[in-house]
Amino acid sequence: MEAILKNEIKKNVSGKSVHELDSLFKPKAIAIIGASSKELSIGNVILKNLVHYGYTGKIYPINPKEPEVRGIKAYPTIFDVPGDIDLAHVIIPGKFVPQIIEDCGKRGIKSVIINSAGFSEMGEEGMALQTAFLTNAKKYGVRIFGPNCQGIINADPQYKAYCDFTFTFPKPGSISIVALSGGVGAFIMQSLFDLEIGMRMYASNGNACDVSISEVVNYYGEDEGTKAVILYTEGFHNPKEFMDVAQIVSKKKPILAMKAGRTEEGAKAAASHTGSLAGVDIATELIFEKTGILTFNNEEEMCQAAMAFSTQPIPKGNRVGIITNTGGPAVIATDELVSAGLQLPALSEKAKNILKETMLPEATIGNPIDVVATGGGKHFRSALDVLMDEETIDSVYINFVTAPFTDTDDVARNIVEVNKQNRKPIVCNFMTNMSLERFQVTAKILKDGGVPCYSFPTTAAKALGALYQYHQVQSRNIGEAKNFSDTNKAGAEKILEQAKNENREFLSSAATYQLLSHYNIPVADWRIAADANSAIQAAEEIGFPVVIKADAESLVHKSDMGGVAVNLKNADEIHATVERMKKSFDSKDLKFFVQKFLPGGRELIAGVSAKKDLGHLIMFGIGGIYVEVLKDVVFKISPVTEVEAKEMLSSIKTSKLLDGVRGEKGIHKHSVIEIIQRLSQLVTDFPEIQEMDLNPIMAFENKALVVDARIRI
Ligand code: ADP
Ligand code: MG
Repeated sequence: MEAILKNEIKKNVSGKSVHELDSLFKPKAIAIIGASSKELSIGNVILKNLVHYGYTGKIYPINPKEPEVRGIKAYPTIFDVPGDIDLAHVIIPGKFVPQIIEDCGKRGIKSVIINSAGFSEMGEEGMALQTAFLTNAKKYGVRIFGPNCQGIINADPQYKAYCDFTFTFPKPGSISIVALSGGVGAFIMQSLFDLEIGMRMYASNGNACDVSISEVVNYYGEDEGTKAVILYTEGFHNPKEFMDVAQIVSKKKPILAMKAGRTEEGAKAAASHTGSLAGVDIATELIFEKTGILTFNNEEEMCQAAMAFSTQPIPKGNRVGIITNTGGPAVIATDELVSAGLQLPALSEKAKNILKETMLPEATIGNPIDVVATGGGKHFRSALDVLMDEETIDSVYINFVTAPFTDTDDVARNIVEVNKQNRKPIVCNFMTNMSLERFQVTAKILKDGGVPCYSFPTTAAKALGALYQYHQVQSRNIGEAKNFSDTNKAGAEKILEQAKNENREFLSSAATYQLLSHYNIPVADWRIAADANSAIQAAEEIGFPVVIKADAESLVHKSDMGGVAVNLKNADEIHATVERMKKSFDSKDLKFFVQKFLPGGRELIAGVSAKKDLGHLIMFGIGGIYVEVLKDVVFKISPVTEVEAKEMLSSIKTSKLLDGVRGEKGIHKHSVIEIIQRLSQLVTDFPEIQEMDLNPIMAFENKALVVDARIRI
């Protein structure tokens, strides 16, 4: 039942019309079921908040005992309310909720915020209640927000809908927030408020049993008044749906999120490298990366960036011009800007000639432009005008210290005038003593003029870095995943079927290498031998020198136990090796895997790890037996496109090694890029593959071949 319901809801979410949520975010009349005269109750606070914030629609308190609540006429039931109702708050004990939702459906109410707790978060009994009210909601097409949630806010002066019990009353703006956790959502809202950044909409949906984070993000994406979205979530009920939505919305407007926490403790002990190298929350991080969501190290950086996004245009490139009236902070800013990927180009002759005329004699004409502490409004203005006209400059960073011997208000007014032109993004590191009234005035001019002001050079530079990062999101195109047509899917299917019939967890070596070959993933020539004589024959067919590996289902890391012998040059060496291995491994199924010896390659790893509801994570990095020590690996979510595969090669820490250092030859990157894509296609075709390690892939100047592989189904 629950599964069917969930599926129904998913379908509804993906195939929905955005306007379905208008009744939630733009209600014209709200009923508060459970409105209460008790000061310290949710049913009272919500009513108070709606009135206090200046809700423009009708409010209907529902209370069977009171004729009025907080001075507003109350009704015993929703059926007694005279007019239409778009939205209802439900603040009554859980056991009454299924019936109330039925009533809401009958009454034609389109959206319900269930603030009450006591549902799926409370175990089986609560889950049953949740299922019951959802069934009723589905029957009438009522959309449920929550339960166990705060609610929504729409700060648009047309609505001023404060359907929430929190205590921050934001001024209207362009940043919209969606947070699964009400606690986090509320403090982000408060942080924006403290930074004097306006807010557009707010949503915190608790158990999120119907209206999902994805749906809200989609709604914000369509909302013209929303310039940027702040997202907080600890994971996704339906990651695929979220990715579809986020991919589209992030091209239209920036989505800001916090980096998902990743702890060692969370990393499951797994039989494969890929499984253990992929921490628990890495999937969330990869979802953000793949869909172009900007991630921040902490909530403070995120809110600071939101301030820039709320007023500034997106830069067209990474070239920044700095204006400063003090030396040191420009140095700090430069470091931070450069590490965010920005550059400081030299100024053109034309620009320098203008500045020579307009600047004080002590000024430094270059990038940064140091207008010096005695520089006033007209000096800042000229520097700004020059940078706005300069074709090689995409954004402007300002250090503005309020030198007491200058007319700081005039400086601020000039910055504001240029900012209002909205030609290129500006951020301002405003260094002052805010306890002095004089400088409060200057600050207010800047803030009212929409100039994002920061109190540290690093913070301002980081915010500008975020604007540039979003430029990259908009211009990045990862393309479609390639579908190689030379693969043998039917052959691969047969191998997997057989392994399933044999109840195997890991594929045998033979099956593993055959499977790879069906997807044209190149492998070193190999045979399987039962004894020394057939191993010698196999080696003769392959050509000496060879490698012999002890082969049994129970053997995981063969070389740890002396199960790998390399560079065997003749029959005698093979004989001795086989006899030795027979003594050290007493597995009944022991065989000898004979393989071409491929010396001198660079050892790489590619791997796969299945993630529930998401697909597979694909890993690439430096391989060999030290992989877990070096941990120089990167991940992507399948299907991996060619662009992404290339990014994987270039984003490992030691990517320079792949090009060859100190006269060494580089590797044939194209082969590796293709292996990654073929691997991605293989696991996309066969979701039952749980884990896979190709370690190592031996990469040479002209080719790359897999010499060790393991597949778990
Ligand atoms: P395991 O990972 O189970 O210990 P591998 O098959 O990966 O076993 O072998 C361990 C190491 O032996 C590899 O990292 C590589 O250095 C070397 N090796 C294995 N096979 C070959 C081969 N065909 N040619 C060259 N070196 C090899
Ligand atoms: Mg190995």
